[in-house]
Amino acid sequence: MYEVTINRSFSAAHTLRDVGGKCESLHGHNFRVEVTVAGESLNGEGLLVDFRLLKRWTDEALEMLDHRHLNEMDFFADSNPSSENLARWIHDHLADRIDSDRVRVSRVTVWESEDARAVYESGADRRHS
Ligand SMILES: [Zn+2]
Repeated sequence: MYEVTINRSFSAAHTLRDVGGKCESLHGHNFRVEVTVAGESLNGEGLLVDFRLLKRWTDEALEMLDHRHLNEMDFFADSNPSSENLARWIHDHLADRIDSDRVRVSRVTVWESEDARAVYESGADRRHS
């Protein structure tokens, strides 16, 4: 299996409800995001996916998060904008665009600090038509 991974970043503010401590106060992070796509075969140019396209698509998704108060987004109306949920949101947003019979978004990692990260991995049986 082939894998291609890119790294991007964005900055945003959030509060985490019902977790206790400082995280319940409004604060910000410089989030780092790693996106991995996977597939069994390459395209005619010998690429799984063009790095430039993957960066552009990821940047377009992150543009919706950058410099936002994440709790005010519709997606987080009923859930905390935790790094775990951000990874899921970024995964689902990209999968809608990228997933095909040949390529799928397999893993999204979100670092909220140098020493803390959360991962969302799509299941092996996840398929988009
Ligand atoms: Zn935080």
